[in-house]
Amino acid sequence: LRGKMVGHLSWHQSALLFEDYSSIAAIATTPVGVAQLQPLQSALATTLWVPASLTDTPQTQTYPGSLKDHLSQLWEQTDAIVVCLAIGAVVRLIAPLLSHKSTDPAVIVVDETGQFVVSLCGGHRAGSDRLTHTIAALLGATPVITGAAQRANLPGIDVLGEPFGWQRGDGDWTAVSAAIARGESVQVLQSGGTTLWRDHLPPEHPFQWDSPVPDATAQVWIGPELPPGDAAISTVAWHPRLLWVGIGCERGTPAAVIDHAIRTVFQAHGLAEAAIAGIATLDLKADEVGLLAVCRDRQLPLQCFTAGQLQAMPVPNPSAVVAAEVGTPSVAEASALLQAQTAIAQAPDTPPAWLRVPKQVVRLPDQPGAVTIAIAQAGQEWTGRTGKLWLVGTGPGDLSQITPAAKGAIATADVVIGYSLYMDLVKPLLRPGQIIETLPITQERQRAERAIALANWGLTVAVISSGDCGIYGMAGLVMEQLQAQGWDGKTPAVRVFPGITALQSAASRVGSPLMHDFCAISLSDLLTPWPMIEKRLLAAAQADFVVALYNPKSQTRTEQIAIAQRIFLQYRSPQTPVALVRSAYRSDETVTLSTLAEFLTHPVDMLTTVLIGNQSTRRHADWMITPRGYLGFESTPVPSCG
Ligand code: SAH
Repeated sequence: LRGKMVGHLSWHQSALLFEDYSSIAAIATTPVGVAQLQPLQSALATTLWVPASLTDTPQTQTYPGSLKDHLSQLWEQTDAIVVCLAIGAVVRLIAPLLSHKSTDPAVIVVDETGQFVVSLCGGHRAGSDRLTHTIAALLGATPVITGAAQRANLPGIDVLGEPFGWQRGDGDWTAVSAAIARGESVQVLQSGGTTLWRDHLPPEHPFQWDSPVPDATAQVWIGPELPPGDAAISTVAWHPRLLWVGIGCERGTPAAVIDHAIRTVFQAHGLAEAAIAGIATLDLKADEVGLLAVCRDRQLPLQCFTAGQLQAMPVPNPSAVVAAEVGTPSVAEASALLQAQTAIAQAPDTPPAWLRVPKQVVRLPDQPGAVTIAIAQAGQEWTGRTGKLWLVGTGPGDLSQITPAAKGAIATADVVIGYSLYMDLVKPLLRPGQIIETLPITQERQRAERAIALANWGLTVAVISSGDCGIYGMAGLVMEQLQAQGWDGKTPAVRVFPGITALQSAASRVGSPLMHDFCAISLSDLLTPWPMIEKRLLAAAQADFVVALYNPKSQTRTEQIAIAQRIFLQYRSPQTPVALVRSAYRSDETVTLSTLAEFLTHPVDMLTTVLIGNQSTRRHADWMITPRGYLGFESTPVPSCG
């Protein structure tokens, strides 16, 4: 792995936008292609492959032999292949390799001019559409997605539940996708799992969940139950992982017997095994070979509780015999219920866990051992994912002023949270099926709490702030709150994406006012006591810092800017240049150059940044220039105080 160590994470690891993919291979066959694809290396950890003719290209790997042979090797080893080559050539090369959309890797084509990124195949299941959005954002290119869901601005039905860790069940996915593409009504029968996916659909979406739809041609079944096998219309099923299986067994019960017990009990109750979140038991069973094998084969977490913990859980079928043997009257029921209640930090409005299937004893005639099994249903599904919190600065407003990494983060995240004005500015980067949440500007704390809750649940959440997220932005609120919740510094994984802050964007409009030592002071006393702000104004004025005033004046808070002006006039000439930059890089931008004595005769509001020059700052035509050094510059004499 490349990259420097930063604390416990290498830069390389923390930089990854697409950890869902264990490997992404990029291929370029020309120097121009190499240049196009190189930006993907650090953000996505791609290996960039080149032919032997380009061996001298730095940071690339050479494939021996033909591209055709190399592709067929990559096909088996990678999750996604990104190629910079004519699309026709790519189609011919991959044609013999295509087998099925559930196993083929994502294939993405970047054109040599770098203008377009095409999701060629594996759009939904292999994640090609989503990765295409990320790559396009990173390269500043246009994503080309040709699926019908994209046109209708809908999430693909076969990826709908992925953010929440839902498992795909049986069904005619092609028929249901086709019905959606034709714009036909689709009946949704949802018995469990989050309804968050419904809140962010476009208004003209085809899904109906409130009432039966007589003319529906397709249905989507969402819940832990198996769909009825005899549905008259095309059906697909998604299974949120809501079920926790409590298991007790005799010592030495073989894996086959435990597996059989799970299968028969699920079948008997019409439940989908795909809806299993995990298995819970008594700590004495932590080394039970058969149980461990079942968990490993089914890739399920095993949660063990002490007898004391299980004893405290009220259950419908306690057993005195079991109590005498292991110190708790229930293993299966109590552990299933306890795990269903505690596996996820529940939101306050989450329904309580309940015992879906009371304990059953299962044996196999010709096998030793016996299994006691019970199933509890949680109020919220287990996503099985590790959450991420991305704190993203979106710059002053214009899309061209956002870093490619920040764009990539916004396009990739499952959830984007931010103030509605900024959400409008980044709208072109958003992707169908993303959960978009806006809250009024006064509710930053709620926004931070919401973001943390969703990340703790396992989602990838981008919190956006204008400018830089860490300068009077959301990063501080989110990290403070994480700390207050006892965050271990790792889960959810936090990454901060820097942005161009207002003092930089404002300065760029008037020249080079920040050229020497400068500072930022916010005049908002909502979160900072005014005497502290006044102290800093005084210190900055005395020390001859160039100063950028953020939050200079609101409708109700008008005095502070006048006080600031008086403080600066004690230490600087009335002729000191002052710039008022309002809505920099937005359509309603205004720039006003004035002086310390007169700037308050111009409008100043909450969309304005005020730049006050130091004693050497000069005005020249429409520019504000602070010299790089003070040698040879005569400074204006400091007016005496008082
Ligand atoms: N995180 C932001 C600052 C938020 S505080 C950043 O790094 O830029 C809000 C203040 O920032 C506003 O009151 C204004 O003073 C300033 N500001 C934000 N965007 C601006 C823009 N486009 N033009 C001028 N000032 C801006």
